[in-house]
Amino acid sequence: MERAFQTVSRLGVLGGTFDPPHNGHFSIAAEVASAKNLDRVLFVPAAQPWQKSQYSPAEDRFTMTVLGARCDPRFAVSRIELDRKGPTYTVETLLALGELCGPKVEFFFILGVDAAKGLTTWYRADDLARSAGFLAVTRPGFDASDLKLPTGGPPVEVVEVSPVDVSSTQIRAAVREGRSIDHLVPAEVADYISTRGLYATDAPHL
Ligand code: NAP
Repeated sequence: MERAFQTVSRLGVLGGTFDPPHNGHFSIAAEVASAKNLDRVLFVPAAQPWQKSQYSPAEDRFTMTVLGARCDPRFAVSRIELDRKGPTYTVETLLALGELCGPKVEFFFILGVDAAKGLTTWYRADDLARSAGFLAVTRPGFDASDLKLPTGGPPVEVVEVSPVDVSSTQIRAAVREGRSIDHLVPAEVADYISTRGLYATDAPHL
């Protein structure tokens, strides 16, 4: 990790459940990297997203993220949350990455506006501000001036990106109903979902 990021001074971190990762995730990562002069964007799949009750196996979500992240040389994927035991807390991830990369690397956590509204509910919310800057990307149809963040969370900068109207929920439903997802995810991710039979039934995707 340290060697891979030796020349990095501004590192974006895109944490997610990535169930599955889709074109929206890769598009916002690329646009934020360009807009905010980030040297790299590190995708960090959550092992146990503690605010969710159902999700696919972490190794499947990690592999899909690796396959999709091949689209841009600025992207990398971390196992840091998979290799840590217990529920996934972003503050612990950011502090651990800070230790690994050293003080010369500045961190920017990228998240959607919906996630940003919930920042005060995150574990050790008070410590989030000292672990990274927070960049909230807009969603299709969202007016940035409408974003009302609860007080007490870290400062959040809104970054306007091109709208990509896709969600992981929509993709899981499409697969279950036998509809094509080719326009929603990278081809290698679609192949992986098909080969592994992910999201094919109504059964909980645990
Ligand atoms: P996700 O569904 O996989 O999405 C990842 C991020 O991409 C989210 O911030 C989401 O924003 C954004 N996004 C997805 N599709 C988008 C689109 N089409 N346009 C713009 N933005 C889009 O991941 P998640 O389950 O929300 O989790 C996000 C991160 O927050 C994870 O790293 C998780 O561990 C972390 N988290 C931490 C805590 C804690 O530490 N206590 C609690 C909750 C979450 P939206 O939110 O707007 O969908």
